[in-house]
Amino acid sequence: MITLYNYINGTLVSARSGESIPNVSPRDGKVFSLIPDSDHQDVEVAVEAAQAAFPTWKKTSAEDRCKILTRIADLIAVHQEKLVHAESLDNGKPLAVSSHVDIPRAESNMRFFASGAQHFASESHVMENGTVNYTYRKPIGVVGCISPWNLPLYLFTWKIAPALAAGNCVVAKPSEITPYTAFLFSEICIEAGLPAGVLNIVHGTGPKVGEAMVNQPAIKAISFTGGTATGKRIASILAPQFKKMSLELGGKNATIVFEDVDLEKTASAVSRAAFANQGQICLCGSRIFVQRAIYEAFKRMLVEKVSKMKVMDPMLPESKFGALVSEAHLEKVLSYITTAKEEGGTVLCGGQSPEMPEELRGGFYLLPTLIEGLSPSCRTNQEEIFGPVATLIPFDTEEEVIQYANGTVYGLAASLWTKDVSRAHRVAHQLETGICWINTWLNRDLRTPFGGVKQSGLGREGGWEAFRFFTEPQNICIDPSH
Ligand code: NDP
Repeated sequence: MITLYNYINGTLVSARSGESIPNVSPRDGKVFSLIPDSDHQDVEVAVEAAQAAFPTWKKTSAEDRCKILTRIADLIAVHQEKLVHAESLDNGKPLAVSSHVDIPRAESNMRFFASGAQHFASESHVMENGTVNYTYRKPIGVVGCISPWNLPLYLFTWKIAPALAAGNCVVAKPSEITPYTAFLFSEICIEAGLPAGVLNIVHGTGPKVGEAMVNQPAIKAISFTGGTATGKRIASILAPQFKKMSLELGGKNATIVFEDVDLEKTASAVSRAAFANQGQICLCGSRIFVQRAIYEAFKRMLVEKVSKMKVMDPMLPESKFGALVSEAHLEKVLSYITTAKEEGGTVLCGGQSPEMPEELRGGFYLLPTLIEGLSPSCRTNQEEIFGPVATLIPFDTEEEVIQYANGTVYGLAASLWTKDVSRAHRVAHQLETGICWINTWLNRDLRTPFGGVKQSGLGREGGWEAFRFFTEPQNICIDPSH
């Protein structure tokens, strides 16, 4: 049994209550670690440590901040194997995904924002009368970062790195469901020599730790990634406190396939967009709209490809499709398959848990599932399922598919597939999403603005957007003639 600790004021400590929470591996449903069941007392100690560290950290030169964050990135690379293993054990994602996506991306998040610390510049505005305005961007102080379970270290570092690079001190909470790599990350920060209190990691549940952070007056800004319902609750607590907030929330993303595509290539890309990470990426395309002329042919090809995806032990090197993150989540996803059937949907493939070897029977597995015959407005096509379930819907015209794609409360991402460049831009401009991919998916440049519109979020992460979020601008106006 592995014991995980909070990282507060530079040291690894248990929860003040002395309580812990069992942490289950989705691979076999067995408890493999114990995490601190922290509460507001631990958050308070973490905040005090961050407040004490802030005056020195904010004055630390950009070059030195860059050096230490780069050292953390280097150590992620050194401990890559251990982190990869931990991420897959904790989350159920295949080792191949942890080793090609999650951990390399955590490393590049650190490296990218480390270098950003040295390049971040603010604006100046010179008026006709010679008056000079310059924007002085200061770190905010102590900020809170709350992240979800689907891309644990990847999304944790995506927030922490820019917050630290901009000169803030951080109190961070990983998801209680996938805390393992955040704990290993705290060991790496100690090894890298990050000064005590600059980053504090408090483990525990959302209601006890996350909400204590949101309510903490000394935490001046919250960067949150998670579900829309949690985002709404957090926003309702933050708004009356007038705290800065960045909310990256759920999605119900459209994949739009026009009739002029290369069927084979597009079917492969679309199946990846729907089922990568067992469909547990906020950007996955779970509503697949296909132009009627190619609907049947495309469907056959997609069903063939998806039926061949083999659900396997995530800890095997050849595994490409692992377990869902938890029993509760598996049950939620299965309940949506039942709903889809009740709504008149036809399951084209999947729809149930696969037969797994004896030692994995306690794990949380589900076959990748495609469903057709549902109206765009039914629950299955409106609510975020966040698992390996996608629907196929035919359409005739551009106008019709734009209306379908925009017809949800969400607006995170979309992908569209066509050889007609004019159409691609025309449609993309009319989609109500923060991100639109054309003939590609999950193609990420860390400099670009990342985030959603409507109920998919508030604000943007990535590049300078993140530095702007984690700094407070002050306009300084000078009349040089005085
Ligand atoms: P949740 O909203 O359940 O949880 C996210 C984080 O918030 C967790 O650390 C959770 O803690 C914490 N939390 C829960 N309740 C509270 C609260 N009352 N106050 C403060 N913090 C709280 O999301 P999931 O972890 O289930 O993640 C899946 C969701 O995340 C999906 O909706 C997905 O679309 C979204 N997501 C969005 C992304 C984006 O960039 N837009 C990217 C990735 C995911 P704990 O789990 O420990 O209880």
